[in-house]
Amino acid sequence: MEYKILGDYHTHTIYSSGFRKEGIHATGTIEENAQVAINKGLSTLVISDHGPGHYFYGFRKENILEARKEIDRLNEIYIPKGLKILLGIEANLVSVDGILDVDEDFIKHIDILLMGYHYGATPKSIKDGYNLYILNFASKLMSFTEEKTIEIYTKAYLKALDNYSIDIITHPGSKAKIDIVEVAKKCAKLGTALEISSKHSELSVESLMRIKDLDIDINYYINSDAHIPEDVGNLENGIMKAKIAGIDFNKIKNIQETR
Ligand SMILES: [Zn+2]
Ligand SMILES: [Zn+2]
Repeated sequence: MEYKILGDYHTHTIYSSGFRKEGIHATGTIEENAQVAINKGLSTLVISDHGPGHYFYGFRKENILEARKEIDRLNEIYIPKGLKILLGIEANLVSVDGILDVDEDFIKHIDILLMGYHYGATPKSIKDGYNLYILNFASKLMSFTEEKTIEIYTKAYLKALDNYSIDIITHPGSKAKIDIVEVAKKCAKLGTALEISSKHSELSVESLMRIKDLDIDINYYINSDAHIPEDVGNLENGIMKAKIAGIDFNKIKNIQETR
């Protein structure tokens, strides 16, 4: 099968550096990501830095107008060359009630809303011993704990889907296990796409096959989740997972089968 990669809908820049100045969590500028995108022949590039709720890696709210202006400026140069840049955000799911770390005031400036679950910023002052104690405690109750956590996170995802108009859920099931069947059914109903990450394990081949068995009409994006410009458009891993799982490539919105 031959295919063309139309776009990369999940890339990070130096704006994913939280309270620090720049380039620690992700190294590229918006323009550096755009350069790689155009060199690889992509027609869409989404800049989706971490939501502002993450102290270490989050986008700083006060930078939103600057990022918007920069993307609008770059689009004047790059659209005539065939590349459109969209301003997105990879918002964090921050409560069991499905609340994200972006409000209407923030969302009105962006073109596309991605949502993912990430571990909160862990203050460095918390000692390893403390974490080990928690983990140890949890492991003693493992079967109960895991079941309960899946239930809590799944509900949080479903509520977030009700609360916001989310375009793509990033790496669903990575970092916190969820009931992918329930989330996929809801996404199909709402028109929210699921991400097949080239960087994270989920969606895995197994998860993709479970969704395929549901016979629902759901869309996917295969994304790089690039944190360095060179990774923009590197979708091989995700494409391989989709192929093994036998996903209909017509349902992958940023890939076009050419033969
Ligand atoms: Zn993420
Ligand atoms: Zn990401």
